[in-house]
Amino acid sequence: MTTRAAPRIVVAGSANMDLVGLAERLPLPGETVLGDDFVMMPGGKGANQAIAAARAGGQSVFLGAIGSDSFGVTLNARLNAAGVDVRHVRTSYGASGVAVIMVDHAGENSILVSPGANSTFTDLTEDEARVIASGDVLLCQQEIPVETVTAACRAARYGDTRTILNAAPARELPIELLELVDLLVVNELEAQTITGSATPDMAALLALVPRVVLTLGGAGARYAERDGRDETVPAFPVEATDTTAAGDAFTGALAVAWGEGRDLLEAVRWANAAGAACVRKLGASNALPTRAEIDEMIT
Ligand code: ADP
Repeated sequence: MTTRAAPRIVVAGSANMDLVGLAERLPLPGETVLGDDFVMMPGGKGANQAIAAARAGGQSVFLGAIGSDSFGVTLNARLNAAGVDVRHVRTSYGASGVAVIMVDHAGENSILVSPGANSTFTDLTEDEARVIASGDVLLCQQEIPVETVTAACRAARYGDTRTILNAAPARELPIELLELVDLLVVNELEAQTITGSATPDMAALLALVPRVVLTLGGAGARYAERDGRDETVPAFPVEATDTTAAGDAFTGALAVAWGEGRDLLEAVRWANAAGAACVRKLGASNALPTRAEIDEMIT
């Protein structure tokens, strides 16, 4: 592989503090259960994918909103420590996004997400638009208002910035957003929700956007383009310990590889390696692989 300058990946999305408590079993409504381990780590698809892109070797810039509480301070520090450029992150008065996650010993979970500051990211400043237009790739998800995602993709058009929409969690996709998406990344459930079909319908997705990557969990990922290639790239065989954040590891790495100018099929293969390296480890953003770990999976 030729060495290139690290591509600039701008992620416009959500940031949450994940508060994860482990207990033998989940409490029933009204019940209190004494737990055991507790961890606090950055979460939210935006922050996770920004960290994934930084670890994968990208110059990762995060655009999003954190609260004026102590979680906001910690989130900022953790993203910064992971190598993400947080200079353009907004601080909005009030609470940060928080996910309260309870996990039992069998791996079953209950999650309550309080969007907090994420819901204040309702527009795009000129400065944020400039940052996007200076990027190689813009990466968005659907945990911030759709108007902001659309405005971010529009800003990408003022530069030479390619747009990736990871349509997670799946929700309504307005036509004015779809027209601005260069590459759509979805898992099988999201694909079905978008097209309203019982199984993922690639032709229907390609009627909406020019390129689609469909992630298939332990079966890898399928890449297809309008009037062009349609290939499934197998997953790397690993023992899956915890599939949390696999999609984020995959998408962050995909953005970096595409930003480096690699062919998309080759980029999908590399992203599969990132997903596999992530599922081998327990945890969410702390399990996102480094570039060395991704490369090691391939060789
Ligand atoms: P999501 O987590 O968004 O539902 P997937 O489950 O499709 O997404 O996983 C994303 C990617 O992570 C897959 O395309 C694949 O590359 C990798 N992956 C997921 N599960 C496994 C597994 N069991 N073995 C190897 N790779 C996996």
